[in-house]
Amino acid sequence: MSQITAPDLEPGRVVADRDVALAYATDYSHGSTAPDDFLVVRARDRDDVVAVLEHAQAHRIPVVPQGARTSLCGAATALEGGIVLNVEALRSTRIEVDERYAVVGPGVNTAALKQAVAAEGLFYPPDPASSPMCTIGGNVATNAGGLCCVKYGVTADYVRGLEVVLAGGEAIRTGRRTAKGVAGLDLTGLFVGSEGQLGVVTEAVLKLVPAADAPLTALATFGSLEQVTRGLVALRADRHSPNLIEVLDHASLQLIQQVEDFGFPADAQAALLVQSDRPGHTAEDVQRYADLLTAAGAVEVAVADDPQEADALMAGRRALAPSFELKGPHFIEDVCVPVGRLGELIARAEELSARSGVDIVMSGHGGDGNLHPTVFYAEDVPGSRERAEEAFESLVDLALGMGGTITGEHGVGALKRQWLPRELGEAELARQRAIKAMFDPVGILNPGRPL
Ligand SMILES: Cc1cc2nc3c(=O)[nH]c(=O)nc-3n(C[C@H](O)[C@H](O)[C@H](O)COP(=O)(O)OP(=O)(O)OC[C@H]3O[C@@H](n4cnc5c(N)ncnc54)[C@H](O)[C@@H]3O)c2cc1C
Repeated sequence: MSQITAPDLEPGRVVADRDVALAYATDYSHGSTAPDDFLVVRARDRDDVVAVLEHAQAHRIPVVPQGARTSLCGAATALEGGIVLNVEALRSTRIEVDERYAVVGPGVNTAALKQAVAAEGLFYPPDPASSPMCTIGGNVATNAGGLCCVKYGVTADYVRGLEVVLAGGEAIRTGRRTAKGVAGLDLTGLFVGSEGQLGVVTEAVLKLVPAADAPLTALATFGSLEQVTRGLVALRADRHSPNLIEVLDHASLQLIQQVEDFGFPADAQAALLVQSDRPGHTAEDVQRYADLLTAAGAVEVAVADDPQEADALMAGRRALAPSFELKGPHFIEDVCVPVGRLGELIARAEELSARSGVDIVMSGHGGDGNLHPTVFYAEDVPGSRERAEEAFESLVDLALGMGGTITGEHGVGALKRQWLPRELGEAELARQRAIKAMFDPVGILNPGRPL
C-alpha cells in the first residue's frame, strides 16, 4: 500500500497495477532500479499535468517528468516517495508549412515527427540515435543531439517556444512562433536542457527547414590517430559541412567485425564515416570529402554512388550497439572535447585501457568532438565493475583536462551529478540552484538530477 497521497484525477490516470507501474520506474541508464514506493500518473492532457503539479507542491511530493525513458543518465527513473508524471499521451501535432514550424505535444515520437514533416517537404533535423523510441518532450528537456549536429546543431537550435507547467501548476508560455524575435530574456533557452527540473513541457513550437537530399556516404580507414585528427579538421574546414562525421576506433572496428564481416582491415586504427545531404551536390561533396581524407593519410576510402550504397556503408556503424550487447555489461560515456584533440582523447583512452585492463571502446560523433566511450566489465570477476567505474571517472577527468565537458548530449541526471561541480564550480552551481528555486521554490521537480 503506497504512502503517497494520490492526486484527484479522472479514473485511469493513476496507474493502479504494480507491474504496469514498474514499467515506468526505470530508464535506459546502467543499473537503473525501481524504488519501493512511487506513483505513476499517465497524463492525458495539460489539465492533468496542472493538477499533478498543484497537488505535488501542496504535499511536497517529488515529481519526475517523463517521456519514453531512454535517458542514459538516470534522469527519468522514479524517485522514492515520488510521482512519475508520464506525458507520452500528449501527442498533438500541427504543422504550419508556410511559416515552417510545428506545434507538438511532448509525447510525440521524434522519428514520427520527422516523418510527418518530411511528408510536407520539410525537415526537422535533430536525430538522436534513439529517435524511433524517444519523445520531443524528452529531447527538449535534454537538449538532445545526434548524428547530424555537425551541420544542423542540436535540439535547442529548433525550439522557438514552449508551453511549460511550473511546480504549483501555473502554465506559462515562453518564446514565440515567428522566425525572429528578441523581446525579453530567453526563457525558452533556459528550459531546454533543464532535465525536468524547472517545469513540465506540455507543448513545443519547433522550427522546420527545407528538406535535404538523401545522403551519400564516404567511409575511410586510417593507420594512425594523427591522420584521423587531420581528416576531421580538414572536413570541418570545408565550405559545405558534412551532415554526419562519425568516428570508430580500432576496438570498435574489431567488435563490429565480430558481429559480421564488414570488411574493416584488422590493422585499421580507426574509421571515419562522412556524409553529404546538400541538395543537388551530394556526389561532388562526398568525392571532395574522400579526397580530403586521402590527403590526410587514409589507407582506404570507399565512396557510395547512390543512397542504397550509402546506407550499406553505414551498416558497420549500426552494428556497433548490438556488438556491445554481445560483448557484455558496460557503461556508455558521453564526453565532448575540442575536435582537434579527439585523436589524443582516443589515444589516452587506449593507454588507460592497457594500464587498467578495462576494455574501452571509443566511438561517436567525431565531427563534434563528442564521443561515447563504452567501458566494459565482467559480472563474475571480483573488482571488475569497480575498475570499470574508475576508468569511467578517468575518462571524465581526461575530457575536462582537455577543455571538454562531462556530457555532450546525454545530460547529467543522477549518474553524472558528482562531476558537475568539477565542471561548473561551486559558485556557478549555487547560481543555478537559485534559478531552479525561482521556478520550483519547494524543490519538487526531479530533485537531485542534478540540482
Ligand atoms: C539507444 C539510445 C541511443 C541514444 N542516442 C542518443 C543520441 O544520439 N543523442 C542524444 O542526445 N541522446 C541519445 N540518447 C539518450 C536519450 O534518448 C535522450 O536523452 C532523449 O532525449 C530522451 O528522451 P525521452 O523521451 O526518452 O525522455 P526520458 O528519458 O523519459 O527523460 C529524459 C529527461 O527529460 C525529462 N523530461 C522528459 N519529458 C519531459 C517533459 N515533457 N517536460 C520536462 N521534462 C521532461 C525527464 O525528467 C528526464 O530528465 C540515446 C538513448 C538510447 C537508449
